[in-house]
Amino acid sequence: MNLHEYQAREILRRHGIPVPPGEVATTPGEARASAQRLGGKVVVKAQVHAGGRGKAGGVKLANSAAEAEAHARAILGMTIKGLTVHKVLIAPAAAIASESYVGIIVDRGSQRPVLMVSPAGGIDIEEVAAKTPEKIHRLAVDPRYGLLSHQALGLGFALYGDVHQARAAADIMQKLYQVVYAVGASLAEINPLATTPEGAVQALDAKIVIDDNEVERRPDIAALRDVTAEAPEEVAAREAGLTFIKLDGNVGCCVNGAGLAMATMDLVKYYGGEPANFLDIGGSSKAQKVVAALRIMTSDPRVKVILFNIFGGITRGDDVANGIVQATHELSLKVPIVIRLTGTNEGEAMEILTKAGFSALTDMDEAVKQAVALAKGKAA
Ligand code: GDP
Ligand code: MN
Repeated sequence: MNLHEYQAREILRRHGIPVPPGEVATTPGEARASAQRLGGKVVVKAQVHAGGRGKAGGVKLANSAAEAEAHARAILGMTIKGLTVHKVLIAPAAAIASESYVGIIVDRGSQRPVLMVSPAGGIDIEEVAAKTPEKIHRLAVDPRYGLLSHQALGLGFALYGDVHQARAAADIMQKLYQVVYAVGASLAEINPLATTPEGAVQALDAKIVIDDNEVERRPDIAALRDVTAEAPEEVAAREAGLTFIKLDGNVGCCVNGAGLAMATMDLVKYYGGEPANFLDIGGSSKAQKVVAALRIMTSDPRVKVILFNIFGGITRGDDVANGIVQATHELSLKVPIVIRLTGTNEGEAMEILTKAGFSALTDMDEAVKQAVALAKGKAA
């Protein structure tokens, strides 16, 4: 789950990281009022779940409240990386002497939180990693001991030659490490971590991604979810109790169980296709869940075929079959469906499907081959 910058800033602030104040506005008038309250020069920043807002024209400096209002008018409603801006953050503009990067990700490779810092901040860290990887310093933190003072200070000196600034940065790194555990983050980053001409070190941008598995046991964090800023398919899937991840291909996959879903995607690739999604309808799947799954998959115009791969265990084949039939009544399906179904109540399921005019296979390879062929516009 992604947080907005203003929410991430608030979390950093609560953990003692220096962040300039700010106010959220949803209209140009509110932006003007905020700018007036803050006084002086302000920065108007699009609040969307995307990076690179600066480059996209979503971050603008304003010399007056009237200018802040004009910037807010331009930024509100604009789209950045496919996401519409509904809110802007108004903050006092900081004078910037230098921009660094500080981030922590939970890294699968080392199975540890990895702290990454770079004196080349402000811009895309991916670009720095690709072009000048020597400018990024990494430390895999041993979670038994946490981020130790001397480790943080070492990285602080990788950013700043000045001892006061290095200490300030080290303190911020240790606090950011606390944030990761406090909110269940898979990523927490500050870019830019800026110095002012007076030498102060502060966070001017903040990004936090919460591990979805951590959201449920943190009601305060769950309350920060902004569904208006999320992909509509993902919101619909979550509300229907489905695990859904959108991908770039054209074979819609509807599977029960995460392992089988992974195997299905592998097989789609093996036979030369590209999955359009990962979708796990879960264990005890009621017909309505299948209807929701079909609705979500068919809302994507890139999906050329839908492949069901059901291995009935706790999931009953007849429930899934009923869901497919029900969905064809509720939705007008424009793409072919390939069904592979075996296991619990297979006989009943086949009967329901045959009556409704569907055919189903029991062999997984056959079904996947057919689906891939159909996605390529070939008759199966
Ligand atoms: P991002 O592009 O989505 O990462 O948005 P950022 O919040 O990082 O802003 C992009 C850039 O705008 C920063 O790297 C800064 O150069 C500039 N910027 C952001 N806030 C301020 C500010 O308060 N003062 C000044 N002078 N520049 C700012
Ligand atoms: Mn940034």
